[in-house]
Order: sequence, then structure tokens, then C-alpha cells
Amino acid sequence: MPNSYDPDQIIRSEILALNAYHVPPATGMIKLDAMENPYTLPAALRQEIARLTAEAPVNRYPDADATLLKTALRKTLHIPDEMAIMLGNGSDEIIQIIAMAAAKPGAVLMSVEPAFAMFRMIAAFANISYVGIPLKSGFSLDQDTMLTAIAKHQPAVIFLAYPNNPTGNLFDAEVILRIIEATPGIVIIDEAYHAFADASLIDKLTQYPNLLLMRTLSKLGLAGLRLGLLIGRQEWLVQLEKLRLPYNVGIITQLVGKEVLRHADILLAQANAIKLERTKMHDELAALDGIEVFHSDANFILFRVADATRIFQELKQHGILIKNLNGTHPLLINCLRVTVGTPDENSQFILALHTILDKPV
Ligand SMILES: *Cc1c(COP(=O)(O)O)cnc(C)c1O
Repeated sequence: MPNSYDPDQIIRSEILALNAYHVPPATGMIKLDAMENPYTLPAALRQEIARLTAEAPVNRYPDADATLLKTALRKTLHIPDEMAIMLGNGSDEIIQIIAMAAAKPGAVLMSVEPAFAMFRMIAAFANISYVGIPLKSGFSLDQDTMLTAIAKHQPAVIFLAYPNNPTGNLFDAEVILRIIEATPGIVIIDEAYHAFADASLIDKLTQYPNLLLMRTLSKLGLAGLRLGLLIGRQEWLVQLEKLRLPYNVGIITQLVGKEVLRHADILLAQANAIKLERTKMHDELAALDGIEVFHSDANFILFRVADATRIFQELKQHGILIKNLNGTHPLLINCLRVTVGTPDENSQFILALHTILDKPV
């Protein structure tokens, strides 16, 4: 046996080349970096969660089919009867399952750039080639370039977030439908921010045999629970289910998820409050000199400043954590992304920004 082992000799080169997904420490900070819902659940519901958790048979494996939770999701999210659903430990896990399933030698997974970073990262995990097509300067889909790239690469899978992260906009639905029609593979519409947008492609599922739709409870207020779902035809989900680890959704997630969905009105009211705050924050940002604000249909706002890295650092010194996107993509030069928080958190953010911008460099 050799007395030292070298990971470089064992681990795949694509993995060695990756940077781990970095989650910055946020203890004691106003946390506006991760699109979390800033509101907690009402006391009565938390009590009920405490009871359900206390009584949960944690010595047993959970229901591998999560039947009761799925029924609750169907009802609350108005999932068409003829569509099947598959649950994931967050929608991240669903992206991974799809990528693994499609990773034939030479297969391509396609998305746009800038987009949710996990599409590209998970392609590397699953050993499937990734092709990212740049968005146009206003973050809209570049239809001609997309259709040309689809003809050339024949992608097995395309992921499009609707609304898109980190840009916050909804793509033109007509262009998405043309992409679906032109693609030899499947198109997954990732509606993680559905609660904050007034649009969905869920009613197109029955029309397009290669369309699948992803949702998550994370941005709606249950990020810590880890529950995402894929909605689509049985013929696709039967195959993908084979790759899902049987107990990927734990019993606490099943019980608590089902209970909170009975009170979905609370989450939706919180989402509405966030939408109102989004409008307010947009206007306040737009009123500041030297800031370009982009329209958002999600629970965050993308904006451009003269020196993103300096402002990001100074906000951090004020105890406010947002996301610095400078350097992640040419379209995001000097761009910052702020999650919409509570009215108080948002005021503190705007106030800190005022102070920083008024200060000479
Ligand atoms: C946040 C986010 C997700 C991740 O959701 P989880 O369910 O928490 O894994 C998926 N897609 C997009 C576009 C996101 O922004």
C-alpha cells in the first residue's frame, strides 16, 4: 500500500477543475443574498409542526412514494391530473437526476448564460457536456442563436428558469415554445420563482410531449425543508424515478410540508407582501444616482453600480449581505443582486446604500 494517496490521480479532472459552491458566512448579518423568504410561520402553525415532529416515527424509513405529500402538492399547486410528479431533496436534486439520466457519451445539456449556476455545475457532476448560450444584452433569449445551437448540438436536455436567476426577468414565452418545438430532447422549465411572477408554463404541459416543469418550496418560505418537484408525463418520470434514491425526502419534510401546504394561503400572503416590497425597493434603487435597476418578476432585484465589489464590501461592513455578480459573466459587469427582505431589512439596505454612495471614494 502506498503511504500517500493523491486525489488528483483518482478524482475526475472535471471535478478537480470545479470550484465548490460557496455559501458565505452570514451570522449576525441582514441576509439578503439567497432569495429566502424573510418571514417566519405563525405561532399556531409552528406549534402544530412541533407536535408533528415530536410524534413522527423517525425510527422508520419514510414513505418512499411520499403519497400524502404528493396529494397535498397536487391540490395546492393545481397540477394537471394527467401529469405525474417526482419529488427531490430540493429542486437541485431533480436537476442532478435529469442530468445523470441523460448523460450518454456525447450528450449535451444546454442552458443560457447568465443562469442558475447549478445547471452548469451539475452537468459537470453528471459528466454530461454543457453548452451555455449567452442571453441578449437586456437578458432576453437570443432566439436565432438558440435555434442555431440546438440544430448544431442536438441537446438532450435544456434548462430554462422562468423567471431567470440571477437576472429576475421572465423570458418571452413564445420564444420558449419555439425552443421546445425545435429541441430533439427535453426542455425543463424551472419555475423556482413562480410565487412572485404572474406567469407559468404549467398549462403547456399537455401540449408539448418534451416539456417538463420544476417547482420548489424553497423560495416560498421553506428553504430549510428541502423540497422540490418535477411535473411531467408519466413516460419521462417513470425513467427518472429509477435514479431517485428511495428515501430522498425525509419523514419530517413529508409531514411538515403537507401541514404547511394546508396553510398555503399564509405563504402566498407572504409572497404578496414580498412583491409589494419589491416594487418599493425597485423605485428606491432607481431614484439613487449612478444605479441601473433591472425589472424583476422574482423575489430579488438585479442592479448595476459603478463599482460593485466596493459597494458589496461596504454593505458587508454595514452588516448587510447581498450577492456580488461582478466577474461571473460579461453581461453582469458591476452587477449586484439583492433579495427582497422585510420592510425593515429593505430600509436598512437602502439607507446603507445611500450612505455608501454619498461618500466620496
Ligand atoms: C434557488 C433556485 C433553485 C433551487 O431550489 P432548491 O429547491 O432549494 O434546490 C432552483 N432553480 C433556480 C433557478 C433557483 O434560483
